[in-house]
Amino acid sequence: MNKLSRRAFTSALFSAPVAAGLATGTLVHAATKTAADVQPHAQIRLGRFTVTFLNDGYNDVPIGAFQGRPVEELTAMVDRQFEVRAEQTVRISFNQYLIDDGERKILVDAGTGGGFGETGALPKGLAAIGLGPADIDAVIATHLHFDHITGLVRGGEKVFANAEVYADRRDVKHFTDPAKAAAAPDLLKSSFAAAKELARLYPKLQQIEGAEQIVRGVSTVDLSGHTPGHIGVRIEDDGQSLLLVGDMLFHPALHPAAEDVTIAFEADPAAARAMREAFFPRAAEEGALIAATHIAFPGLGRIVKDRGELRWTTADWASMR
Ligand SMILES: [Zn+2]
Repeated sequence: MNKLSRRAFTSALFSAPVAAGLATGTLVHAATKTAADVQPHAQIRLGRFTVTFLNDGYNDVPIGAFQGRPVEELTAMVDRQFEVRAEQTVRISFNQYLIDDGERKILVDAGTGGGFGETGALPKGLAAIGLGPADIDAVIATHLHFDHITGLVRGGEKVFANAEVYADRRDVKHFTDPAKAAAAPDLLKSSFAAAKELARLYPKLQQIEGAEQIVRGVSTVDLSGHTPGHIGVRIEDDGQSLLLVGDMLFHPALHPAAEDVTIAFEADPAAARAMREAFFPRAAEEGALIAATHIAFPGLGRIVKDRGELRWTTADWASMR
């Protein structure tokens, strides 16, 4: 089926429900909402932990931001999943996670702070579950790219007044190095600026390296490659586990099948590729429950091997409550 006839088919398929929705007014209601108004949160239980999935918003990233294969091939890959949007973009989510062990509230990543794409919703998401910034005891930054740490700072002040911030020392060293900041491409300048502010405002920044325990049942995992100190977070209790993998996967149309596809923000594409080549098959073998920052909310699923090819499959979070 070619593109045109497939779209015609799609619109025919949906014409009846759309008409029904308009008749009842439900679609009109939905259409008046913006991303910042909607505060979806999904929650799962994992032993003594409650993990809440939060969402700062989304951005439509040009396909040309992905590298490693010709843009026509990347376009075909995402088009196969009906994901090519206006002006050849792929929609990328910004998910964060709140880990609650009954005593401490640990936030993993802090979003963009707004001002980038349709983002800035994280504070509203926290408020929707009854939490203000002062309630957060710790923030673990999976890495120091701007879309994971800018939400930690607002107007030159720290947002999370009572939080210890954890980041890998290799990322702290890299992103606070003035020489590296000066030499960085424009694309990465905001990450260097955000990291500098982070180090200034959170002087107790608890630098870790690779795999370390943060609290009982919550530990970091070395997934370096996307950045020099990119880490995951493993939550484990009562024989269950969840691995928060940060930027290991960007979009299911590309990852995990094409571990050679990188994104322009990856300063060392060879390292990023090596990280994915090592991790994807291992995750499939373990059947690990994974959550990825940029996969559509809540970004929870597994990497599975299907007829010799690795692919992403979403997990049913609603049954894990
Ligand atoms: Zn990211």
